[in-house]
Amino acid sequence: GQEGDTQMRMLLVGCPGSGKGTQSTRLLNEYDITVIAAGDVLRSHIRRGTEIGKRADEVIKAGGLMPDEVMMELIGTEVEALGDRDWLLDGFPRTSGQAKMLDALLETKGKQLKAVVNLDVPEEVILDRILQRWTHVPSGRVYNLSFNPPKVAGKDDVTGEALVQREDDNAETFGKRLASFHKQTEPMLHHYRTKAEASTGVLDIDAKNTKASASTLGRGDELYVNLRGDESKQIWPHLFQIVSHRFPNLPKAKVKAA
Ligand code: ATP
Ligand code: MG
Repeated sequence: GQEGDTQMRMLLVGCPGSGKGTQSTRLLNEYDITVIAAGDVLRSHIRRGTEIGKRADEVIKAGGLMPDEVMMELIGTEVEALGDRDWLLDGFPRTSGQAKMLDALLETKGKQLKAVVNLDVPEEVILDRILQRWTHVPSGRVYNLSFNPPKVAGKDDVTGEALVQREDDNAETFGKRLASFHKQTEPMLHHYRTKAEASTGVLDIDAKNTKASASTLGRGDELYVNLRGDESKQIWPHLFQIVSHRFPNLPKAKVKAA
């Protein structure tokens, strides 16, 4: 059983541009946890020019997905190395195949996921956000020219380094990323939702019409949480409430990032 097991093992899922990176950064501001962002791991391989990086470069530009086995090898190794440290995965798993492989890996350690949180953001608002997004590639920090601009135009708040627009943040590639979300990632969400329905139940939160309050916390152990909202700042109080309530022992961040 997982009694007395307070380790955070959480997935943050959502369509491209749903704000996974923004929410992860906010959590890192609060807590001393490890966030593994699959896209950032791939972009780091691209920068270093590794074999995986060469392949990833082509796949990402085309708006496709890397093979499940490659992703499992990359992320699974990191997850294993974390041992009992609290972790959050952003962008992995993203297919049912990857989810089954991750579940199997955890199973060998006698562990299970604690929470799968889906950031359910209406598609209408997303393309606009993607086109306005500037990224600090080495850290994965993202800015939005309207909602969350950098302090100095074109520069990362923390390092002062240049911000760029990701090559896959254009309307055409975005359409393909969205299509692969529907085709590959939604079935994965269905897998976890079904699993939750059969055991701990599902928590549905509408951030647009509800204030973050005790009544929106559910039982507190639902594996699957659907968090619907339009903007990161609307979603954040709910996510923070859920995380702080479920993982009351999380160590606080040592140094607050900017
Ligand atoms: P956003 O950064 O807005 O959340 P995203 O989820 O599409 O958008 P990333 O997570 O940064 O972007 O991933 C960028 C690209 O890297 C994906 O479009 C895909 O090609 C590849 N990729 C990332 N994670 C995976 C994965 N788990 N499996 C297969 N390919 C992946
Ligand atoms: Mg991201």
